[in-house]
Amino acid sequence: MTGALSIDGLSVQGAEAGQQARPRVLFVSHTGTMSGAELVLRDAVRPWAGSTAFLFEDGALAEALRGAGIEIRLARRGTGLSGLRRDASVLRALPKLGRLAGLALELARAARASDVVYANSQKAFLLSAIPARLVGRPIIWHLHDILDGAHFGRTQRVVQARLANLCAARVVVPSRAAADAFIAAGGHASRVTVVPNGLDLELDTRSPAALRAELGLPAGPLIGVFSRLAPWKGQDVVIEALARLPDLRCIVVGTALFGEDAYAAGLRAQAEHLGVADRVLFLGQRADVPRLMQAVDAVVHPSVDPEPFGRTLVEAMLAGVPVIATDAGASAEILDGGAAGTLVPPRRPDRLATALAELFADPDAFAPRTRLARDRALTRYGAAGMQQALSDLILEVTARA
Ligand code: UDP
Repeated sequence: MTGALSIDGLSVQGAEAGQQARPRVLFVSHTGTMSGAELVLRDAVRPWAGSTAFLFEDGALAEALRGAGIEIRLARRGTGLSGLRRDASVLRALPKLGRLAGLALELARAARASDVVYANSQKAFLLSAIPARLVGRPIIWHLHDILDGAHFGRTQRVVQARLANLCAARVVVPSRAAADAFIAAGGHASRVTVVPNGLDLELDTRSPAALRAELGLPAGPLIGVFSRLAPWKGQDVVIEALARLPDLRCIVVGTALFGEDAYAAGLRAQAEHLGVADRVLFLGQRADVPRLMQAVDAVVHPSVDPEPFGRTLVEAMLAGVPVIATDAGASAEILDGGAAGTLVPPRRPDRLATALAELFADPDAFAPRTRLARDRALTRYGAAGMQQALSDLILEVTARA
């Protein structure tokens, strides 16, 4: 008989009611830095207070998970893995093999003390998959990336998809675009579950003008880009578009989280070179993204390669701000094919400038799209829905095992 099991206020359908003890989950992450995937994990673990997280390094993620009631186990020796670029060749990982073997042993021990392993990143999955199998524990891979040729080399894609086919009980992806890429890389379609990222936003009740005054932001037409600084996030395209729109200013929020310092420096040089440096405000990494979003006239999401999801899109939708995004990866799914925002082709500053000019020429014409976006984000992309779906999945996988 299928029944409902309640875990910290979440009702979980599909489990054998009353027959299944609360499983012990081992969450695994390779990085301590908070990008979108780690923010998702921070929210996803909420129903699982008392569980354990095995982290390869200390940092902001460990602190956030502790705050959610998760017990933290740190790898005894740092792996240096987070410094390894995700598109690096296998050869560059070779010198670290000794450390990685030690880590695999630690992971096997931690997995044996759990009922299910939940790997929140590729590196976490690559290292936990075989140890989990060896000690007979099912593993769920939350794949936050888009496994396509723009982001990964062929060998990496094939190895990851094959390993998933061999070891993963489930592969969770945040969008149809990410699911399609996984399948195209050779992953089994039957393994994949799409669970869109979900989040809640606390909105400020003050007017955009009041917020701008408080934040020290200029009056007049103002847009914002909210992403870590990385070549594929495409901030340079916005700066180029700005050169075509002399009255427009832009705040660039975010920093180079994973070593893309040269790109970050290049953005400033580009703004100088194009003569727009006085109209581009680099605000660095901020903890008040929702407030900043509410203060601008539009949010631009300019990724030049496909996005697996893009939490910032949903944040902008919830903030009730018009969104202009590149049509790459999951953006079209999230923005309802363009009904909830404007889609422009990637790497096209001219098209972005035209879309921005149209928006500022007649902002009222955009209002219905912004309302639709907010409703869509509230109904489809809330934190509770994501937690429920992930908890269902964890219970289903452990019950099967
Ligand atoms: N973010 C932040 N401060 C910043 C820049 C970004 O808190 O200065 C947050 C942003 O609000 C979003 C997340 O970082 O929640 C980025 O997630 P997204 O899925 O958009 O991109 P990712 O970094 O995972 O590729």
